[in-house]
Amino acid sequence: MYRKNAWEKYQDNLNEVMDFAEDYKKFISFGKTERLVVKESVELLEKAGYKNADKVESLKAGDKVYFVNKNKNICAFVVGKKPLLEGLRILGAHIDSPRLDLKESPIYEKNGFALGDTHYYGGVKKYQYVTIPLALHGVVCKKDGTVVEIHIGEKEDDPVVGITDLLIHLSADQMAKPLGKAIEGENLDISLGSIPLKDKDAKAYVLDLLEKQYGIEEEDFISAEIEVVPAGPARDYGLDRSMVAGYGHDDRVCAYTSLKALLDTEKPEYTACCILVDKEEIGSVGATGAHSLFFENAIAQLAKLLGLADPLYTARLVMQASKMLSSDVSAGFDPLYAGVNDPKNAAYFGQGLVFNKYTGSRGKSGSNDANPEYYAFIRKTMDDAKVNWQSSELGRVDQGGGGTIAYILGNYNMNVIDAGIAVLNMHAPMEIVSKVDVYEAYRGYKAFLLAK
Ligand code: MN
Ligand code: MN
Repeated sequence: MYRKNAWEKYQDNLNEVMDFAEDYKKFISFGKTERLVVKESVELLEKAGYKNADKVESLKAGDKVYFVNKNKNICAFVVGKKPLLEGLRILGAHIDSPRLDLKESPIYEKNGFALGDTHYYGGVKKYQYVTIPLALHGVVCKKDGTVVEIHIGEKEDDPVVGITDLLIHLSADQMAKPLGKAIEGENLDISLGSIPLKDKDAKAYVLDLLEKQYGIEEEDFISAEIEVVPAGPARDYGLDRSMVAGYGHDDRVCAYTSLKALLDTEKPEYTACCILVDKEEIGSVGATGAHSLFFENAIAQLAKLLGLADPLYTARLVMQASKMLSSDVSAGFDPLYAGVNDPKNAAYFGQGLVFNKYTGSRGKSGSNDANPEYYAFIRKTMDDAKVNWQSSELGRVDQGGGGTIAYILGNYNMNVIDAGIAVLNMHAPMEIVSKVDVYEAYRGYKAFLLAK
């Protein structure tokens, strides 16, 4: 099943692939932030009979449970028939995506406009964020403890916001600058309004509006988390509808397929797990990132609920015995920019689930380099389940590079390999994936959870 075009398998049954993509499109169209992805993940888990760990007193084989961390990080388990100490089968992915965040003190007035100041999050090509419709999603946490949710720009009759760019007629200086300098990070400010409040200004008008509609005042933005993201739903891409164009495939496409694989797994041999983390795009830091002790603590809690002694020590042993697919998107081979790849070791659209033995940059630095013994197990698992798959690395040697969460779980001495789905336009406001790769990834993840 290695390096074969997966569409050939579905020539007579394209619907199977297309239908799966419909649900995925809904998932990312709603899940524009990590909080929203956690929210819809909880809904899907509850519907499938998973219970919040806080409400569980004990567990046995076949039981389903999930843990939520600060509304931005989640892990779920279905308890296997084998003892927990024989290890977990873990699917991991990240649910944060590159974007712009509103600053703590964002709103200002300039030349009759109310503007919102942002600080970009993750690896963003700044020129891609101007002159496109943007939406606002997030929370404003007030001193009295209330949390106000903000979602503006997704409904058809919602207003959108955006970032202006200079007209071509007056761009002589700008066009002479290198691409990385043409749009300054400090200039990624969104237009919020232009009607002056009576005897005041446009900023006052916008603040008045926010006060009336949401009951929030200017100072409340200090304790807020408002993300500025591309507006609008994911859509079919290509005349043959073979692809999906949307915001946040990195890495919600791996998150969705991993979660779906877990949801469709009943009574596994080994305890099956899906963990979705935040903050990967800025180094997996903080309480909700992969470096957090949350996951280890959740496994300890799982051990406790299963009646095992010394849960924290047990959790360490369980992790050491576990196998994991650290799933993140791969750089799809782009015929318009073929030169950045080694064609023998690139990820191609249509060839299914992508495995990366290693990632990193400048001599694999920062990478989890998977053990070949483990990779052989993965190859067998994929081939036995007739899952189309391919191997790749991120670009030519010394062309650049990148990291994932794999090495962080590798620190627990578990077997981890990077897996994922090829993406074009990675980190752009409109990323592209192949529907058949999305489906094969789901099938591959499921096969992994059930592998002996
Ligand atoms: Mn990623
Ligand atoms: Mn990324």
